[in-house]
Amino acid sequence: MLPLQELTRKNVRSLTPYSCARDDFKGRNAKVFLDANENPYNAPYNRYPDPLQQELKAKLSVVKGVRPERIFLGNGSDEAIDLIYRVFCEPRIDNVVAIAPTYGMYRVAADINDVEYRAVPLHEDFSLDSDALLAAVDTRTKVVWLCSPNNPTGNALEREAVERVLLSFHGIVVVDEAYSDFNDYRPFRADLDRFPNLIVLNTFSKLWASAAIRLGMAFASEEIVGLLNKVKYPYNVNDLTTQAAIKLLADLQHINLWRATLLKERSHLLPAIAELPICKAVYSSDANFFLARITGADFVYQYLVNNGIVVRNRSNVELCADCLRITIGTPEENNALLGALRRFGH
Ligand code: PMP
Repeated sequence: MLPLQELTRKNVRSLTPYSCARDDFKGRNAKVFLDANENPYNAPYNRYPDPLQQELKAKLSVVKGVRPERIFLGNGSDEAIDLIYRVFCEPRIDNVVAIAPTYGMYRVAADINDVEYRAVPLHEDFSLDSDALLAAVDTRTKVVWLCSPNNPTGNALEREAVERVLLSFHGIVVVDEAYSDFNDYRPFRADLDRFPNLIVLNTFSKLWASAAIRLGMAFASEEIVGLLNKVKYPYNVNDLTTQAAIKLLADLQHINLWRATLLKERSHLLPAIAELPICKAVYSSDANFFLARITGADFVYQYLVNNGIVVRNRSNVELCADCLRITIGTPEENNALLGALRRFGH
């Protein structure tokens, strides 16, 4: 890996970040806060939240097995994705390399930040082609985007191939593990010590069933987390979100129950879909969704919509011709989908 200084944009290196009123206050026992131009009424919403969300990070640290200094929290993973461009990529000069197909926000954020985005196709079986990926890298490549399990294909990338990229590439490697709770592979956040160029993304939007609170996590070296914190909005995670997350973390039983139910449903739904006459293939899944290749996918998609069922039509995505991406729902929802598909054409 190149020295982090060299990978970081010059203006970010020299940036003086916004100093919050309470950053200056290091004393204890203060009772009177007249420093931040807040309204003294309407507690607790009148006060600015902790810019570094320390209480939440301490609790998260226990659950995720990552030290608090190595955790960045943002307004969804999408904030971390955007910040990674803003910290490392010089617009119109630097580039990033990503797998294809994959989660669409990596490209959108590249376009917004005016950074060249190089897409390297996965193998036909959706496995990572690390040779092709590394061949697309040049001296101006700052970031490689990997997503495992990958959206929309549903498979986890082989650890060996990911490690090869981590060891061979001179810049930042992001492994988006938004869906890693749905398999038993060792998560990459457990290997931050081995890979100083690694950023792992996690989210509260999937297993943690809290997409509406907008809370995403990035795990990385303390130095990288420091850079993300330097560039973020001072109060990027609001207190309602923080409190909701803390409440959730106090009740892990729910999470475990949801995981067990969804995995059981996944193991029932995949073979049932595979048996349908309209189904050409179902791809195995390490996530809470899967890809199914369907005869006349556009037509079937519309038929489902007409029956009040929405899946994701990925037909126009590279390597995914005729593919629908199906999220695992409740047993009732999955049965509704199966019932509608079995009635299709009758
Ligand atoms: N990463 C991946 C791979 C995703 O599929 C999604 C959501 N579809 C996200 C990140 C977005 O996460 P968040 O809701 O935390 O912004």
